[in-house]
Amino acid sequence: METKIITNVSNSEPVIVINDVYKSFDGLDVLKGINLTITKGENVAVLGKSGSGKSVTIKMLVGLLKPDHGDVIVLGNDITSLNEKELNLLRMRIGFSFQSSALYDSMSIKQNIAFPLTMNSKTKLNKNEITKAVEEALDAVGLRDKIDEMPSDLSGGQRKRIGIARTLILHPEIMLYDEPTSGLDPITSSEINKLIKDVQQLYNTTSIIITHDLTCARETSNRVAMLLDGKFTSVGTFDEVFKTEDEQIKNFYHYNFIQ
Ligand code: ADP
Ligand code: MG
Repeated sequence: METKIITNVSNSEPVIVINDVYKSFDGLDVLKGINLTITKGENVAVLGKSGSGKSVTIKMLVGLLKPDHGDVIVLGNDITSLNEKELNLLRMRIGFSFQSSALYDSMSIKQNIAFPLTMNSKTKLNKNEITKAVEEALDAVGLRDKIDEMPSDLSGGQRKRIGIARTLILHPEIMLYDEPTSGLDPITSSEINKLIKDVQQLYNTTSIIITHDLTCARETSNRVAMLLDGKFTSVGTFDEVFKTEDEQIKNFYHYNFIQ
């Protein structure tokens, strides 16, 4: 069967295009015409209150939810036009860091990180190549010395980093972070924020960071997009978005800024 997956995206091309997207659930209008274009190598933080549709937005980028209206173009592919097989190929190019890092407790750190490689029958790497890839991913998150430990030996912040290393092993072109600092103390949060920047530099990834942690947004992103009442009402640098007289944005800032 002909595959529609496009593999090369030049630096100037947009990596993610969200065009006039609507999404409702049983009469609840969550997204009411969102627009956002993200170019290669850019980190964009999506900010918004709990329940505003942030997770719905990134689920649409990986085809877990379909828009009711509008276009979602990821790495040159119109998500709605792909079948399951094509979607799975595209998903392999996208790293998804969930709210809970969900490591396999019975597997070592090495086995956890190698999992995306070993589960995928198409990667025919030998043992040494797999170890090398795991070490590279562990170096990226600064935890190479934990390779033979078990998840239960690690702190919450370390587990989160291991979860990120596991997504990095496939060298994703896009990283999606859903609330990367939620539930972490300020010091661990700042380590994760630094890691998100490091990943952008090391892997030249394009990232969306979903958060309501303003420190995280400020420290990790090139631009922020405010999701309010189902629309991106303000998109720009952190300072551009928050130097505003808009009451809703000012309120969001005051209720969420934790320093
Ligand atoms: P958040 O901004 O906190 O990530 P979500 O994107 O998870 O919010 O959810 C936005 C709204 O959409 C919520 O009211 C949620 O209950 C609803 N929602 C999300 N996914 C579904 C679904 N699969 N079915 C029905 N309602 C959903
Ligand atoms: Mg969410």
